[in-house]
Amino acid sequence: MTMGLFDPDTEKLARAHLRLLAEIAANAAETATWTGRPEFSGAVMAAMAKVPRHQFVRPEDRVAAYVNRPQSIGFGQTISQPYIVALMTDLLDLHSASRVLEIGTGSGYQTAVLAELAGRVFSVERLEALAAAARSRLAAIGYANVEVRGGDGFDGWPEHAPFDAIIVTAAPERTPAALIEQLAPGGRMVIPLGRVHETQHLTLITRAEGGRLSEQAMLPVAFVPMVRGPML
Ligand code: SAH
Repeated sequence: MTMGLFDPDTEKLARAHLRLLAEIAANAAETATWTGRPEFSGAVMAAMAKVPRHQFVRPEDRVAAYVNRPQSIGFGQTISQPYIVALMTDLLDLHSASRVLEIGTGSGYQTAVLAELAGRVFSVERLEALAAAARSRLAAIGYANVEVRGGDGFDGWPEHAPFDAIIVTAAPERTPAALIEQLAPGGRMVIPLGRVHETQHLTLITRAEGGRLSEQAMLPVAFVPMVRGPML
């Protein structure tokens, strides 16, 4: 017997997914004073609607995948809150030719959302086990415009620079110099800055066509720390 459309689990997930999209839209309106984005673009919302978040969490956590919260993905790391994923993606102003660098692949969920919107996505993850799991998960779902590499994100990915957009999903205290160097003229970077256990600020850094940088702190956020040093 085929389950298909009438599988109660599929139904439940689909309903939770729709509810989540409504919550993301409500959160965007509530935080507009800080972010300047009362609505996220239709393309970003369509990507949030399309990516199957339940495939990026541990099997026992599938039911909670569409709750608007971060979740544990093992190794002391988390999959980011859906609203934050949507906000960070929206702030990058991606288009179909954008080349994107992501630091902190984690589950690969944010990577998939980026891959729906951009031309190519290069993602660096410090923990080799998470990088490998995300790489095979993204390939299995069918993302062909993504490359995931194990490595230290403090170095960026110089071989593929410059990038139109850079997104960092772990918090350093200061913006890593290599990432500034690898941001193209006209490029946009979204990065949480601050110490662990203190307030971090989601920050938008833009580089004008002439090269000039500007920085704007937005929302207080709580990300895992961006860690230097050897991988596990
Ligand atoms: N976007 C991910 C969030 C993962 S949490 C998701 O939604 O699933 C942040 C990730 O950053 C963790 O997996 C952590 O291992 C990674 N990380 C921390 N320091 C890093 C570094 N220096 N370089 C690359 N990745 C790093």
